[in-house]
Order: sequence, then structure tokens, then C-alpha cells
Amino acid sequence: MQGTIFDIKHYAIHDGPGIRQTIFFKGCPLSCWWCHNPESRSSEIIDLIKEEVVGEQKVCVTETIGKKYSVIDVLKEIEKDIVFFEESGGGITLSGGEPLLQYEFVLELLKQCRKREIHTCVDTTGNVSGEKLRNIAEFTNLFLYDIKHVDDKQHIKYAGVSNKQIINNLIMLDEMGKDIWIRFPLIPGINDDESEILRLMELLSGLKNKYPIQLLPYHKIGSQKYEKFGIDYNMSDYKEPEQEHIESILKMFSDARFAASIGG
Ligand code: SF4
Repeated sequence: MQGTIFDIKHYAIHDGPGIRQTIFFKGCPLSCWWCHNPESRSSEIIDLIKEEVVGEQKVCVTETIGKKYSVIDVLKEIEKDIVFFEESGGGITLSGGEPLLQYEFVLELLKQCRKREIHTCVDTTGNVSGEKLRNIAEFTNLFLYDIKHVDDKQHIKYAGVSNKQIINNLIMLDEMGKDIWIRFPLIPGINDDESEILRLMELLSGLKNKYPIQLLPYHKIGSQKYEKFGIDYNMSDYKEPEQEHIESILKMFSDARFAASIGG
């Protein structure tokens, strides 16, 4: 069994507790306008031909995005960082793209980590079958769960899919009593007005448990990648949110007694 991975980041500190190793899987069922990892969207391994200047000459070089790994290959990478996990309360985070698109591989990897008592975190869009997510949840310590927009029509417009399954799966994980950190990208003019924030709070208030919320303000890092991948970038005219506005949204959450913070 092999998984297609486009990056393995050592010493990550924004993808769950402690020092982590974040493994980025290729393939995503969403197509968010603000995505800063457009290389993650296709599940295929891609060869990009780029021109580089060497001395006074232009040469063509090939950059390959994505690589096949066996579970054993990934475990070997993970084992390099175990001492950091132990000292910091960290572990591994499976991200993407959407890691659950490679369900069998991810399930086996999580089982192997459980055997080794490695803390596991899955960063998911939630746009996957409830049955698969339930099976994965048994071997996952923490979910980073993305909510992009509570309004379904807006979700379809800006993320390419309905949010119904995403919300149903969140309710399922909540009922299972799983540890969850909610992640909400704060995108000016798309999901950051007061009414949308109130709708998000209403959704989260309806859950059995309270979860920390991480607000991820939109940034333009990654926008230059779009041209490289031949994908239209719809956000050229959008600005990064003002600090004052971010603070005001943070205050809305804290006034409503949610534990919200900025950044992952
Ligand atoms: S879910 Fe994440 S990886 Fe997928 S398109 Fe949206 S931002 Fe990009």
C-alpha cells in the first residue's frame, strides 16, 4: 500500500500541541478560493517544467510535486522526531489536501502510530464519508476541523462543495466525544461579517462540547503558486484582514465565552 505525499514538515509548531511532524497528503475534494497549497489539490504526482537562470543561460528544470511512500517509509521519517515529540508533548499531524482521500493508507499509518504510542492529529476538511471518519477517529487523538462557511450556498460558491456532510461529520465527532480544535479561515468579504460569525457561534453552541477555535486570517502567501500550476487565482483583488477587524472578531468570540485564538 502506498500514499501520495507532497511534503513532510519536521518541527511544526502550528498544527496541534507540541513539536509535530506534519505530513501533507495530495488530493483535496474542495477548491477554496484562498487555498495557499494549490499543489495539494490534484491527487496526481505532477512534473512542473520551470525555467531557471544558471550563469548567463536559461535552463529548464523539472520539479516533481508529490512522491509515493509506503507506511514503513513514513514511519521511518516519524521515528527521526520521536525525541522531540516526547519532550514537547507533540506528535504527528496528517494534513493536505484532505488526508482521508487516502483512507486505507491513513488508517494503517494511524494504527501503527497508536501501537508506538505516538500522538496523532488529523487536519480534515470533514468532507468525507461519515463511516470512514468514524473508523479513523478510533485511532486519532485530536482533529483539526475546518469550517469555511456556515451558509451552504456561500460554501458551494467559495469552496466548491456543500457543507452539509462537513457539519454532519462535526456533529458525529462531537457525539463520539473526540478532541477537536475548530479552524476557521477568516476571509475578508467572504466569511468575516458579523452575521456569519454569529452563525458559526450558533453552530458551535449547538454541539455537546465546547472546542477551542483557531481563526486563520487570510494571507497572500502562496498566491504566486497559482500561475505555476495553471489555476485561476480568484483572490487577486482581496486584501488581508486588518488587525483591528481580527481583534474585533476575537472579542465577539471571547464575549460569547468561546476560547478563540489567532493562528494555528
Ligand atoms: S480544503 Fe485546504 S487544501 Fe483543500 S482547497 Fe481548501 S484550503 Fe486548499
